[in-house]
Order: sequence, then structure tokens, then C-alpha cells
Amino acid sequence: MEQKFRVVKRSIDARQKQLKVHLTVLTDEHGAPLPKDAPIPLYEPPHFQDVHHAEHSVAIIGAGPAGLFAALTLIEKGIKPIIYERGKEVAERKKDIAILNRNQGLNAESNYCFGEGGAGTFSDGKLFSRSKKRGNMQRVMELFHHFGGDDRLLYEAHAHIGSDKLPTIIRRMRECILEHGGEIHFSTCVDESLFRSLINNTTPSYTTLHHSTRLLGVILAIGHSAHDTYHMLHANGVALATKGFAMGVRAEHPQALINKLMYHDPSPELIRLVGNASYSLVTQVQGRGVYSFCMCPGGHIVPAGSALNSCVVNGMSASHRNSPYANSGMVVEIRPEDLLQYPIGGTPSNSQYPQVDPLAGLRFQQELERLAFEHGGEPSLAPAQRLRDFVEGKASKSLPACSYLPGMVSSRLDQWLPEHIGKRLQQGFRDFDRKYRGFLTNEAVILGVESRSSSAVRLPRDPETLQSISTPHLYPCGEGAGYAGGITSSALDGINVALKIAESIIK
Ligand SMILES: Cc1cc2nc3c(=O)[nH]c(=O)nc-3n(C[C@H](O)[C@H](O)[C@H](O)COP(=O)(O)OP(=O)(O)OC[C@H]3O[C@@H](n4cnc5c(N)ncnc54)[C@H](O)[C@@H]3O)c2cc1C
Repeated sequence: MEQKFRVVKRSIDARQKQLKVHLTVLTDEHGAPLPKDAPIPLYEPPHFQDVHHAEHSVAIIGAGPAGLFAALTLIEKGIKPIIYERGKEVAERKKDIAILNRNQGLNAESNYCFGEGGAGTFSDGKLFSRSKKRGNMQRVMELFHHFGGDDRLLYEAHAHIGSDKLPTIIRRMRECILEHGGEIHFSTCVDESLFRSLINNTTPSYTTLHHSTRLLGVILAIGHSAHDTYHMLHANGVALATKGFAMGVRAEHPQALINKLMYHDPSPELIRLVGNASYSLVTQVQGRGVYSFCMCPGGHIVPAGSALNSCVVNGMSASHRNSPYANSGMVVEIRPEDLLQYPIGGTPSNSQYPQVDPLAGLRFQQELERLAFEHGGEPSLAPAQRLRDFVEGKASKSLPACSYLPGMVSSRLDQWLPEHIGKRLQQGFRDFDRKYRGFLTNEAVILGVESRSSSAVRLPRDPETLQSISTPHLYPCGEGAGYAGGITSSALDGINVALKIAESIIK
């Protein structure tokens, strides 16, 4: 939207028929608004030190938002980050993603989850966090801005970068890390032997891998999709615990319909000014939350799995958010005890998910992703059903046009989703239709499965030192550690962990 003044905060309120845009503008000492080119009341610009020959270093496993923001913060503190990333750098990763989108196969080490920038690179890039408690969110925005995000990041209540812009920002972060003396090892999956060697090297009495620098710790920022790494950590005595998570499907409506429902018959001019409408929906069904998650106006549904023979969907959008589709995860809250009560393909008495098993949630995710794959098809066809057909328990004879590039197969999701998810989703969609008449329509389609909305595992850490409760000098961090959800909070956790490690050498 064209601005005349220097805006410092902007939000849209679409709750009433009359849509409202709230702006806070910067003023001079007499209260007069300052023009739009007035300097942004900026933050302290980052000051990156030269860490080529730093006395101290930290190993970081994973180059997602948590790992990258930890690395940048360590450099600001004069500590050398050494990053290990199983995937490829962003330009190479793009090629693998193009192959995946053409339904020509998944590279299990280079996809929407794995590679430079982690799950954040080809994500939607919505930058907000529900939690205001965890620290300085503004710092995360400022760093994204520093590496090329536009000014809106500094004032939009619901800031958004877009999957077309994120790769450049991530590349610039890498260039900064390397230029200042950090190391990044791509295509290097930290397996048992490398993990042990890194942890052992944090103890000064061991011979160090990096002779000139003392390794202060290992930041574990692996995201929540590296199931093999979780199993390796478990086998190596790292403490893991179950946690609640959520699973469901991704729903896609025509964007024009969502604009009509949310903005009450908007004019094209209004859409041009405020952008395509989004929604956030929540209800309770039989004691569990059912809610929309990661809604992408003007976006695309993407194949977001990282394992062969599985089907996982997620959503993203480009910076202009101008595709004709609106998609969102529609998920059901799952508590650890639900896995005991409702095992897939079993009865409570022969459950394969004993309560004590901290990996039960992962196994449940894998099972459902495999089931979706069986009902979809090789290699990335997604099982799909029209929305009203799903709710009414009917097969869809045809499927509507959809943004999901690999393709869809008509399938009875109402029949094969576990009951505690499927039935709750059906009721959830009815509830959402009561709020927004027309939401429950056969113009919309649902695709399965949205299984990676949050981590099913936590790696418990000491609240004071942020180190793993089982493994000294190991710092579980970001979404995969169960301490964050989304780009902003994962990046913030990376900053907090790095600051905590830096504190240990200042003391
Ligand atoms: C399609 C899509 C859209 C999304 N949209 C949004 C959005 O709009 N807004 C939002 O806030 N969040 C979004 N998310 C979620 C967000 O991307 C994640 O919450 C965030 O990236 C988590 O950050 P992280 O650093 O903790 O982990 P990740 O980003 O998952 O990064 C972990 C990294 O660790 C690497 N790794 C794993 N195991 C190993 C190993 N053993 N050795 C070496 N490297 C390893 C992986 O390759 C990966 O690069 C989206 C996710 C997807 C997939």
C-alpha cells in the first residue's frame, strides 16, 4: 500500500463489515508525522566480528533458522560457528525441489525440509510468533531486514517474506558467515560417529578436531523432520520426551471465495490495497483443539516430505501472494495419551505405542504419512477429496483445480484417516462453516496429510544452562528440540542459545 508517512506499525482488522487498517506513524517531537523516507528508528545494526582465528568455536547441526541465527549471534560475540548441514546449498536445492514438483522423485537429503535455510527457505515466510515471552522478536525481524527483507518487516503485525525472496536472504546470511570466518559443511549429515566426536571434543582433555580453537558446545538445530537423527540421539543416550503435536490435512479454497467470506464482498481496489484475505479458525471437538495452521493466501500446496514412500503436504506463497488459491493446514491436537488410545491399525490393547516410548509420536507421524502415500501414489501424488464430500462421507468423482503441482488422486480420506482425527476434522469444518457460511463447499479440496505442523518430540534441556538434561555441552535448539514452532521462534531460540553459550566465556 502506498504510504505517505513513515509507518512503524500496521495491522488489518477484518472482524467487522467495515475493514479497518491500523497504522502507527513516526512523528517528530511536536507530534507531526514524518515523511515516508524519514530514517527508520532503527535498531543497532549488527556488528559481526572476524572469527577466522577465534579462540572459541561452537558446532551447529542444522542450517535452518535456529542454526543460522545462532551462527550469526555467535559471530557477533566473537565465537566461530562450524555448521554441519545434511542438505545442499540453496541454488542446488532449488533444482531438487523443481524435480520434486514435477513428480519426478524425492531426494531424501535435499527437499522442502532439508538444505540451506532448513524448512524456512521455501516456506511461506510468515514471520510472527504467538509467544511474546521468549525474547527479542524485533531482533529477528531486524536481521531478516539487514539481509535483504523489505521495510515492512519492521512494522507489519503479520510480516511475510515469501518463498521467492527467502532464498536470496538465506544465501546472504551464508556469505556473511563465511566472510567473517565461520565454516559451513554442506551435504554432511551428522551421524553417530560425527555426533560422538563432536560431543567428545567439547571436553578440553580430548584431542580436538579443530586444533586452534576450543569447542564450547554443540547446538542441535535439526528441525522436526530428521527422524533418523532422533533415533540416533535416542540410541546414544540423549534424553528425549513425548510432547503434544497436531496432524490433519491441507485445505484449499479459491482465493476469491475466501476474500468474499473474510472481507465481505470486497472490491478489486480493496484487495489491491490490503492484499488477499487470510483466516485463522479454531474450535474444540470432543476435548481437542481443531484449528487452521499456517494459512497461505494466494499460495501453493507443496510436497513437504523428507522420506521416500511417504506423503506430506504443507503450504507456501510468493511475496505477492497472488495465486488464485488460498490454502491452510487444518489440524487436530494430539496428546501423547491419544497414541495409546487410538493406534493406527490396532486396538488399545495391542497398541504399538507404549507410553514410555519417547519416539511414539514420530512413529505415528510416519505411519500416517505412509498411509497417505499408499492412497496417493508414486512418487508424490497426494490423496485428495472435495471438502463437502469429506464431511458427508462421499467419494469425489472429480477433483477441482488445485495448486499442488505433483498431482492428486481422489481418495476417501474420511475412511482412512484415524477416527480421532477424521471425525474431529469433519465436525471442525461444520463449525467453521457456521462462522463463515460458504466455507464448507465442494469448490474446496483437502489433501493428506499435514503431519509436520509441530514437533512430536522434545529434547528436554536445563532451563538455566539450556544444555540437554542428559548430555553436557549439547544445546537442543529450535523447532526440532520442541522449544519453538515456526521461523521466528526458532530463530529466536537460536539467538538465545548462542547468547547463553557466549555468557559462559564472559563469566
Ligand atoms: C512448506 C513450509 C512452509 C512453512 N511456512 C512457514 C511460515 O510461513 N512461517 C513460519 O513461521 N514457519 C513456517 N514453516 C515452518 C518453519 O519453516 C520451521 O518452523 C522452521 O524452519 C524451523 O526452524 P529450525 O531451524 O528449528 O529447523 P529447520 O528449519 O527444520 O532446519 C533444520 C535443518 O537441520 C538439518 N539437519 C537435520 N538433521 C541433520 C543432521 N543429522 N545433520 C546435519 N543437518 C541436519 C536439516 O537439513 C535442516 O536444514 C514452514 C515449513 C514448511 C515446510
